[in-house]
Amino acid sequence: MASDLAKAAKDRGIKYFLISYTDLFGSQRAKLVPAAAIAGMQRSGAGFAGFATWLDMSPSDSDLFAKPDPESLIQLPWKPEVGWLAADLWMDGKEVDHAPRNLLKRLIGKAGDRGWEMKSGVECEFFLTTADGQAISDASDTQEKPCYDQQALMRRYDVITEICDAMLALGWGPYQNDHEDANGQFEMNWNFGPALRTADQHTFFKFMTKSIAEKHGLRATFMPKPFMNLTGSGCHAHVSLWKDDKALFEDDGGELGVSALGYSFIGGLIHNADAICAMTNPTVNSYKRINAPRTTSGATWAPNSVTYTGNNRTHMIRIPDPGRFEFRLPDGAANPYLLQAALLAAGLDGIDNKRDPGERLDINMYVDGHTVKDCKKLPLNLFDALKAFEASTVLKEQLGEEFVTAFSKLKTVEWNAYARHLTQWERDNTLDC
Ligand code: ADP
Ligand code: MG
Ligand code: MG
Ligand code: MG
Ligand code: MG
Repeated sequence: MASDLAKAAKDRGIKYFLISYTDLFGSQRAKLVPAAAIAGMQRSGAGFAGFATWLDMSPSDSDLFAKPDPESLIQLPWKPEVGWLAADLWMDGKEVDHAPRNLLKRLIGKAGDRGWEMKSGVECEFFLTTADGQAISDASDTQEKPCYDQQALMRRYDVITEICDAMLALGWGPYQNDHEDANGQFEMNWNFGPALRTADQHTFFKFMTKSIAEKHGLRATFMPKPFMNLTGSGCHAHVSLWKDDKALFEDDGGELGVSALGYSFIGGLIHNADAICAMTNPTVNSYKRINAPRTTSGATWAPNSVTYTGNNRTHMIRIPDPGRFEFRLPDGAANPYLLQAALLAAGLDGIDNKRDPGERLDINMYVDGHTVKDCKKLPLNLFDALKAFEASTVLKEQLGEEFVTAFSKLKTVEWNAYARHLTQWERDNTLDC
């Protein structure tokens, strides 16, 4: 903890601070502030022009101030003279409603008012590519079933262990690293924790992984589906709810060891899955991971329908252990703060309205999914996801009108830009019309 950042700079040898915030599209924006100026910045925040980033602002708006949260301070493991700080956004003396970290803190507060704390862990899959991002970085990584490939993992030992060593030193409790199901794809797991801490760690993990990969002449990407024939990069989230030290989703007497409260939370995700999809799967490319045809490894490992199950990885929600569940929908493009906020919004709605998740399905969805009657499908593209997001009264209530309007406005601009883009596929298939 470093409540006085100027003192922290002296004590720890920090020369510069990165005052950083994450905008609506998940881009991390920062100012690099010398330690000599940090006291003032801690009081008033670092100034930005909000319109210059993905926030719903105009060039004529007053300055945006990013006030660093001293509890988030991390010295960059690969450059310890720099201290990274997650910041909350203020404008005209008020917190910006639609800023992702502010929004998540509001939802955490809502749950906190009822004595609840959501804890979560994220599995941030990523590819290591050549510096230009065009191909996976390891030309020898060609197996049809590359998951857990020992040889390919060890060829990236220097990169993976530099990141893992950093997480060990930061006290995150990393416990395993592996080669994932796509050629060139990896995953590194660390311990779950309170939603805000996980969101800050998730944000920092992306920054750190990209930075360390660059140091090694490579590029790390969390893009959901960078290669059409390979398994995409998900960002599964595991979720539990706590009151003090009591795990509220745990119940020995419940189905699979999950309590009625847990099933209501799951019911909230089932009920609101199509509406939150724009937050958990926020890019045009996201929809090439879900609903995808089988990959060369034999399975996409991504959901295509709104269903839940026990320890079975073909559904949107999996209950691997008593007392928690895994939400397999989110992907690598999910904004770390909006991902947690979406979980809380849907989960709180589920609890408040005792949403019934329906029957658990114990089938292989990839083979037998078509046999499920009236099975709710996930949105097929970003446009459909945005329509469901905008139409959701639950999200307006849980997240606030300002956020819903801002997010759908900017994302619709992105969709329109994509729709105006002329692709080679169209020429190939339409020239002869
Ligand atoms: P898998 O690949 O089987 O889905 P991983 O081991 O890769 O699982 O990731 C599991 C994630 O779930 C980790 O971040 C872990 O800390 C987290 N986790 C474990 N137990 C809980 C829990 N009770 N509540 C929230 N997250 C949890
Ligand atoms: Mg200037
Ligand atoms: Mg995993
Ligand atoms: Mg994985
Ligand atoms: Mg998983």
